Order: sequence, then structure tokens, then C-alpha cells
Amino acid sequence: MDSQREPVQVARSAMRILILGGTIEASELAKLVADDKRFDATLSLAGRTMKPRPQPIATRSGGFGGAEALARWLRDEKIEAVVDATHPYADKMSANAVFACGQTGVPLASIVRPPWTAVPGDTWQSVADADAAAHAIGTRPHRVFLSLGRQELGAFAAAPQHHYLGRSVDEPRCVALPPDIRMLLARGPFTIDAETRLLRDEKIEVLVSKNSGGTAIYAKIAAARTLGIRVLMIARPDKATGHPVASAQEAIDWLHHAPPRSLRGV
Ligand code: NAP
Repeated sequence: MDSQREPVQVARSAMRILILGGTIEASELAKLVADDKRFDATLSLAGRTMKPRPQPIATRSGGFGGAEALARWLRDEKIEAVVDATHPYADKMSANAVFACGQTGVPLASIVRPPWTAVPGDTWQSVADADAAAHAIGTRPHRVFLSLGRQELGAFAAAPQHHYLGRSVDEPRCVALPPDIRMLLARGPFTIDAETRLLRDEKIEVLVSKNSGGTAIYAKIAAARTLGIRVLMIARPDKATGHPVASAQEAIDWLHHAPPRSLRGV
């Protein structure tokens, strides 16, 4: 993608862009493009959250129906650039975006959020996925905090001997949960003080987390360090990317330089 970069062409009409969202970066980008007449942007959400945060641009919700269908959607909507600002664990959506943009010739940038790295005092154990995390907690009963998406909670039904405290934005649906689980419904960001209090009051011994990166939900990791709590860190999937950018602002800079569709003969 980088090699295709060209000087900005003066556009007669606003550039039609698709932002693949569900993250803070996607919301930041939506804010940046909302008042910019050069862009006509649509934000796409997976539709996992019952009440997503209000957004200042047109929003669509739910899957496209796979990579081919996304390619059709890009053509039908005459999209001229895509920014993949999906979560670091949303690897299927990113693979579909790379495929669809490759097939249609639409330039693609991907906001890549660096992972957290362990610092002295952290006791992290890397696990491949939620199933491996459930196994790694151990045979003896523990008090476990599951700070995960609703989709992953079901894996812990396979380790029913533990007491679980789960936290997600919405009530889990269509998932067979472990028998001894209490859910907290909350949306970040969270403070270190509040997370430390929660982990201490709930006598948590093991924290299961994704390595989401960023600052909004890092407090639980810092709190676990302070309290000496073991963290089972679910490894990141390999995510396909277009032109990598580090932030919403970098994505805007890229959009200003993305080659117009007409230069690529599509
Ligand atoms: P995924 O596995 O990459 O995506 C599965 C399917 O969901 C995609 O193939 C696509 O369906 C649809 N999809 C995903 N993101 C979409 C978007 N922005 N717009 C339209 N459709 C979208 O991602 P996931 O199942 O949503 O989540 C995977 C992991 O990421 C989980 O661990 C989850 O907790 C975490 N996560 C996701 C989000 C999010 O907003 N998606 C936010 C926070 C955390 P089609 O193939 O039908 O197009």
C-alpha cells in the first residue's frame, strides 16, 4: 500500500470512506472526520454491543456477510478508502478487509495498537486462547476475574470448579456460562484505584485478560501487579493489515495522501 502513495488530488466531492470500528481509535477517527467536508464517512460496527456509544457520523451495524460481500459493499457504496480500526483480537474482520480491498483496489490503512508488555512485578502467563486459559487456571478452585468479551466466557464452563467474577458491557447471551459466575456490567475506562479495590474486595487470585493494549483498560493490569495477582494473558491473533498507522490522527494524515480510486484504474 505504501508504494501507492501519491500527492493529494483535488477532489470534486467528498471522499467516501469506511471506518471499521468498535474501538476508541475508531471513535476518535469518527470525531476527526465528522466536521471535515473532505470526507463522507461511514462507521461500521460489529453489532456486539446493545447500546453502542453515539457517533457523530453515519453508522451501520452487523457483519457484511464475508470478504466477498464486503468487496461488493465497497463497490456498491463507491468507497474510496478504508480504515481498519478494529480491536486487536478482531482478526477475521481484518482478514476480510485486506481481501476485499485487495480485490477492489480500495486503499486500506490499519490502526495498529501496540500490545502491553510485562514490567517488573508482573506475573503473566501467556495462553493461546480462552480454552487454554480455562485449563491453565489449575485444578484447585480459585477466585478468577474474567475481564473478557461475552463470546469468550463460555470457555470457562469447562473449568466449573472455580468461582468467577466476569465483566462485560452487556449481559452474556447465548453462551453456556460456568455454574459459579457473577457478572458485572460495565464499560471502561477504569481507574487503578477502583480496579485495585475490586480485585482486593473480591479476593481475586487469577486475572484472565486479552492483551488489548492502550490505556483505557490497563488499570486492571497495574492493579494485579500491585496485589501480586497472576495474570493469564490470552495471546493476540496475527492480524492482517493494510498500511499500518498508529493512531486516528495518523489515519487522517494517510487519508489526505491516499491515492484516489481513479488513479488505480477501478
Ligand atoms: P472478528 O472475529 O474479527 O469478526 C467476526 C465477524 O464479525 C466478521 O467476519 C464480520 O462479519 C463481523 N464484524 C467484526 N467487526 C465488524 C465491524 N467493525 N463491522 C462489521 N462487521 C464486523 O471480530 P469479533 O467477533 O467482533 O471479535 C473478536 C474479538 O475481538 C473478541 O475477543 C472480542 O471481544 C474482541 N473485540 C471486538 C470488538 C468489536 O467491535 N468487534 C470490540 C472489542 C473487542 P462478516 O464476515 O459477516 O462481515
